[in-house]
Amino acid sequence: EERTNDAEFKTEELVTVKEELEEQAKQLQLSSKYKSEFLANMSHELRTPLNSILLLSEMLADDLDAELSPEQKEFAKVINSSGNDLLNLINDILDLSKVEAGKLEISFEEVYLSEFVDRLKRNFTQIAKSKELDFDINYADDVPPIIYTDEQRLQQIMKNLLSNAFKFTKEGKVAITVNKANAEEVSQLPLSNHADIWVKMSVSDTGIGIPADKHMMIFEAFQQVDGATMRKYGGTGLGLSISREFSQLLGGMCKVESQEGEGSTFTIYIPNLPGGIPLIGIDNTEE
Ligand code: ADP
Repeated sequence: EERTNDAEFKTEELVTVKEELEEQAKQLQLSSKYKSEFLANMSHELRTPLNSILLLSEMLADDLDAELSPEQKEFAKVINSSGNDLLNLINDILDLSKVEAGKLEISFEEVYLSEFVDRLKRNFTQIAKSKELDFDINYADDVPPIIYTDEQRLQQIMKNLLSNAFKFTKEGKVAITVNKANAEEVSQLPLSNHADIWVKMSVSDTGIGIPADKHMMIFEAFQQVDGATMRKYGGTGLGLSISREFSQLLGGMCKVESQEGEGSTFTIYIPNLPGGIPLIGIDNTEE
């Protein structure tokens, strides 16, 4: 008699707990959605005035009427470059909040890989020269000429990885390596895609490296290896989390191998997806 009562009581209690948990989960989902929407709107509102600041400070810096002193022109340049830093930060926050809200649009298209890599090389040649670093491109013969992916997102990933490589390297070299990944290698990765062709792109450097216990956390938003990173190198800790999220949105992944004091290699695996990927879990019902 007592035992049945006990069991009934337990079931009732469990049902209540389950309902409470479900309610909490709903609230959490909702507040995370509000947060993402707030960030997206905010970033948008911030960009509009910033665009005027950028445009007008650039005009001042150019000083076409030759009316400003050298010092005034220098100030205008500083305003412009700080404004650009702020714009990049806002764009990063906007991208991440879109990913979180499931609203980042990706468009699959033909990407001509060797031209893509050439453009990256051109983008970073100047910084390589100014830091007196070697900058190598290793482009394997078996790389397919074209893959279907989102070129703009792929470019953002690679630019983040390259900026870091140059930022954290004082001497030696930075290299981009592009290969066709073989099926065996891909099958050992935690990936759910079954694409026919995979491209593997790495950015390696001979810089400060990353301690093993930090290999996971550097991919989290706003995380840097330690408190000194910000003071010494600047940055916001958003680049790698964007790179990881984007790699996943393209159906692939991003990983790091690094040894403190020796250097780092960041590698992305990107599938060839001619039909795009079904956007599972992505909410396309609203704008
Ligand atoms: P940011 O570079 O703006 O700080 P990231 O998300 O791109 O943000 O990188 C997070 C952190 O990971 C960096 O602050 C740095 O501590 C570490 N890191 C990233 N790339 C490298 C690299 N190539 N070499 C050494 N440390 C790196």
